[in-house]
Amino acid sequence: MFSKILIANRGEIALRVLRACQELGIKTVAVHSTADSDAMHVRLADESVCIGPPSSRESYLNMAAILSAATITGAEAIHPGYGFLSENAEFARSVEDHGMVFIGPTAKHIRMMGDKIIAKATMKELGVPLVPGSDGKLESLEEAYEVAKTIGYPILIKAVAGGGGRGMKVTHTAEDLAEAWEIARIEARAAFGNDAVYMEKYMDHPRHIELQILGDNYGNVVHFGERDCSLQRRHQKLLEEAGSPIITAEQRQAIGKTATDALSRMGYRNAGTLEFLYQDGQFCFIEMNTRLQVEHPVTEMVCNIDLVHEQIRLAAGEKLGYTQEDITFSGHAIECRINAEDPISFVPCPGKITMYHPPGGLGVRIDSALYTGYQVPPFYDSMVAKLIVHAPTRAQAIARMHRALNEFVVEGIQTFIPLHQHILEDPDFQKGDYSIHWLEQFTARTHAS
Ligand code: ADP
Repeated sequence: MFSKILIANRGEIALRVLRACQELGIKTVAVHSTADSDAMHVRLADESVCIGPPSSRESYLNMAAILSAATITGAEAIHPGYGFLSENAEFARSVEDHGMVFIGPTAKHIRMMGDKIIAKATMKELGVPLVPGSDGKLESLEEAYEVAKTIGYPILIKAVAGGGGRGMKVTHTAEDLAEAWEIARIEARAAFGNDAVYMEKYMDHPRHIELQILGDNYGNVVHFGERDCSLQRRHQKLLEEAGSPIITAEQRQAIGKTATDALSRMGYRNAGTLEFLYQDGQFCFIEMNTRLQVEHPVTEMVCNIDLVHEQIRLAAGEKLGYTQEDITFSGHAIECRINAEDPISFVPCPGKITMYHPPGGLGVRIDSALYTGYQVPPFYDSMVAKLIVHAPTRAQAIARMHRALNEFVVEGIQTFIPLHQHILEDPDFQKGDYSIHWLEQFTARTHAS
């Protein structure tokens, strides 16, 4: 086992990893920008190193600074959290080149899954079902017309280098295709420096269902069931559940087997998530994330597992030590992402937290680095807390979340707390009757009334 780990991240996830290290008796090194000197992860770490100015590019994305910090503090491994360098194959390789362990998959698998075309081709080859679409990148507008005709409108043009829900264009008719093709490529070039695009059937009422996977370095792969992340705004997740209200135990078992067989054949190691759109009984793979996800706590609650402990243990070369049959599911968990944003306009509102009082009680978990007096900096992602509840049934989990949100006090900034309260009160949500398009319609309705 490692004796010291550097955590290459900030905010709640840095704290999440730090807590896991402390419980395993591992010393921690925090890194931080000059804007984060007072951050909780810095205060609680055994050592900390300032790696640059506020801009992420010069600090949390600065590989040389992070590798130097790890070297001078004698860290044996680096946990990247999510975002920042977590899916950067070059970083994973450099960590290993410096004689340290990258807590995550191999650089090769990060690279493969980071390229959406290769990821889809690989999964297809391994027997995982895909969204109908082009076989790889579209070479011309003529080809786009051909593929659209075969799969049928509406279609989605997606940037090969896209991410974070950006770089997608829906087209409902052939008349609009030429224009969408042009715009999608111009936008892709501007946003990602790469104008390659591909096409998928646009699904009009899918759920976003994803499977949590863990693999060891010896070809053993298991899954921890699904998360339903269909509540999204601009393709960004806001509220997640485990399990999905609409997936049966048999469906979970079947898609779980397809996924674990595929990843075991790939030799995939550490944590990963396979994302699917699910519509009319069909799972269609869209992408794989080769890291820990923001919403991993809902899985931890229903499976009674610490995924970060597992990541560290597996990266240290330990075997999984259990099989699929040993993994059981209990109750229902919900996570609400609390962003420092106006709950109606979604405009970020960083600022000073004048009062912070998190909820408590049975089955309530808060993953957050906030405290009274903390200044939320304007430079980073606006998610400042995750509120997670666990209860025997979904209805009880909803009631518990409602109660916990009522108790949650965050003053000085605006947050999503009121928005989540509205969602939980909605009859469609309570019935579990929603698709990935539901939240946008819901916010438009609430906004209008
Ligand atoms: P990113 O890498 O930007 O997150 P994804 O391919 O994972 O892109 O898609 C993000 C979200 O976009 C999905 O969760 C879903 O809401 C929506 N989406 C993606 N593909 C489709 C599709 N074929 N039809 C409808 N919605 C889609």
